[in-house]
Amino acid sequence: MSILVVGSVAFDSVETPFGKAHNVLGGSAAYFSTSASFFTDVNIVAVVGEDFPQEHIDFLASRGIDLQGLARDPGKTFHWEGRYGYDLNEAHTLATHLNVFESFKPRIPSSYADSDYLFLANIDPDLQMDVLRQVNNPKIIASDTMNYWISSKPESLRTVVKNVDILIINDAEARQLSQEPNLVKAARKLLDIGVKTLIVKRGEYGVLMFNGSSVFSAPAYPLEEVFDPTGAGDTFAGGFMGYLANTGDISDDGIRKAIIFGSVMASFTVEDFSLNRLKKLNYREIEERYRSLKAMTHFEGLPEMGISV
Ligand code: AMP
Repeated sequence: MSILVVGSVAFDSVETPFGKAHNVLGGSAAYFSTSASFFTDVNIVAVVGEDFPQEHIDFLASRGIDLQGLARDPGKTFHWEGRYGYDLNEAHTLATHLNVFESFKPRIPSSYADSDYLFLANIDPDLQMDVLRQVNNPKIIASDTMNYWISSKPESLRTVVKNVDILIINDAEARQLSQEPNLVKAARKLLDIGVKTLIVKRGEYGVLMFNGSSVFSAPAYPLEEVFDPTGAGDTFAGGFMGYLANTGDISDDGIRKAIIFGSVMASFTVEDFSLNRLKKLNYREIEERYRSLKAMTHFEGLPEMGISV
């Protein structure tokens, strides 16, 4: 089954302690769709400017991503500039040039309106609601957001989170949205305001999932070389949704496996700048990393030790 993603396609300029990349392919929808394309068909709704090179279009098309919803508007492509220090979990935004993204009004082509899986990447929550009005009853809707929208449009964001099935945000966003520093209490508060399933991304510390009946904690794949964390969150979401759409299994077990696929995909993205690692990736490597993450996190049930209580 196919996935629809609505988000940004960007030029990123990124600096990490290990190097710099200038004007490379980025954006939430680019990372998400490339990651999900390893599992299922993906339709993208986003906007680029006149300066967006054919080479990037060709790459996305080569992943089988449907680009009918990728508008090309007069002007320049959205450009994000960021820097990471040695704490790679924290991105410092140096500049955000919205360019054509400023007037982005997502128009969902009629052929995408029946998508079963929908990912609302980090855009204005009012636009996320506008997308929801243009689609017909998807089976699973997930959404992301960022600190800017949490502080500038809290009411609109609350409406979005009540209308989606899964909220995928990072730990700082979960704390900010709930106004609660303890993540477990933060999760409870967010479930109380109507979030059905909450997935909290914690960078190198892994992922926590909470819903009414279960909690799941997954570690990140331990990597020796982390080069550039940009896009890890969107790549996670792409692997997660891609697996769900491929199998249709939205049981608790299915969601747990999807979280592991998401973590595996993110672990590849951070090994290089931009989508460079995903460009070279094949499905066998994904399977191998899934198996090794399973082996690393396996432990036996409670042993019998003859201790009386
Ligand atoms: P993440 O997965 O959270 O690391 O997302 C990184 C991507 O988000 C980068 O490739 C940026 O181009 C994109 N991005 C950064 N700021 C914004 C924004 N305000 N709106 C939409 N996309 C953004």
